[in-house]
Amino acid sequence: MISVHTSPFAMLGGRDAGGMNVYVRELSRHLVERGVAVDIYTRRTDRLSPHITPITDGMRLIQVEAGPPHPIDKDSLFCYLPEFASDVAYLAISEGLRYDAIHAHYWLSGWAGHLLGRYIDAPLVLMFHTLAHLKNAVAQDEHRETTLRLQVERRLVDLADAIISANPDEREEMIRRLGADPARIHTVPPGVDLERFRPADGHAARHRLGLPEGPLVLFVGRIDPVKGIDTLFDAFRRLVHDHEWDGPAPRLVFVGGLIQIDDHGSTMDADLQRLAARAEALGLSDYVLFHGAQPRERLPLYYNAVDVCAVPSRYESFGLVAVEAMACGTPIVASRVGGLRFTIEDDVSGLLVPHSDPAALAAALRRVLTDHDLRSRMQVGARQAAVNYSWQTITSAVLGVYEHLAAANPVIASA
Ligand code: UDP
Repeated sequence: MISVHTSPFAMLGGRDAGGMNVYVRELSRHLVERGVAVDIYTRRTDRLSPHITPITDGMRLIQVEAGPPHPIDKDSLFCYLPEFASDVAYLAISEGLRYDAIHAHYWLSGWAGHLLGRYIDAPLVLMFHTLAHLKNAVAQDEHRETTLRLQVERRLVDLADAIISANPDEREEMIRRLGADPARIHTVPPGVDLERFRPADGHAARHRLGLPEGPLVLFVGRIDPVKGIDTLFDAFRRLVHDHEWDGPAPRLVFVGGLIQIDDHGSTMDADLQRLAARAEALGLSDYVLFHGAQPRERLPLYYNAVDVCAVPSRYESFGLVAVEAMACGTPIVASRVGGLRFTIEDDVSGLLVPHSDPAALAAALRRVLTDHDLRSRMQVGARQAAVNYSWQTITSAVLGVYEHLAAANPVIASA
């Protein structure tokens, strides 16, 4: 596995650590359970951590020297990819390792995987996680992806031996816009851990998290313009200020962004401070509860504690948060974009609304919060839909892609 710009074991919910990290970690874990040994390569971002860390029997995390040993913006990483690839090759060749597949995540790792192919004879499996031209289609000017990324993604579509797309739309886009060969694109969505994410007592969850009584809406995710947090705040302002509520007003529980807690109190990172200021300007200070990024073990409590989970993204390749919430039997109100269109069935497991439309989002949230029958029906529909995404099923599909490539590779097939 190659994940250059972010370690799969990084703290989630910061700017660059989210669904892809979870995906690499979970897929690797399930591959190991099936008897496949997995080495995960990532760029070293500190001086002290060991070069090789055994994670479990059969899984290692290998931190590669490429560029300065501290965090740098991912847009500056491209020039270090040759160094990254030759370091991986050096280790693999000196240890006498034979890889049956190189599975790269995100365009930067895709390029590193392509360069690695100069040294190692193994097929390249690529998962983009997001595509620049899809992101740009909904991005404001200052957040547009670079021309370099656009061009590299176009090249990688030809260079990869197989591409795993997270949803059927992404597959179509790659064929239509990037000229990809349909035979090389396999649509396999990410999975969800159905043991960890399952329905549980909501009152007990609220109590454990210290959450108030009354209607609760949850947001979980990275603080990134693509997540539509601005739309959610605008929708919440309408929800809280434009309507009379019988009983307590709704509150938004916000999970994401880093909050540092020490002896002197708690400090929000710059992104969260900006959001808190925005909430204040909208008159929402009493209605948005900032909880900061949460470890995975605590997320089922959050999903179970709330009435509805909002996923207001402008674009979402898959949207793990939606499926995790659904697995807990929590209805979703989400934008009708990307993978969310396929995972959420409108009016069955959640409600779909146009992206960037605060009025539509507010109306849908209000419907779910006030219509008890609708909510009960969607709680059942949500869990039922989520069981289609068990990691067992998804891992079998990914293994199928590796096996298909290995059979076609004379070196591996004869080994
Ligand atoms: N996540 C987490 N803690 C947080 C925030 C997010 O564990 O504080 C996880 C979340 O449960 C999900 C992933 O990060 O598994 C986010 O994935 P998603 O596909 O929703 O968004 P992405 O980060 O890929 O844009």
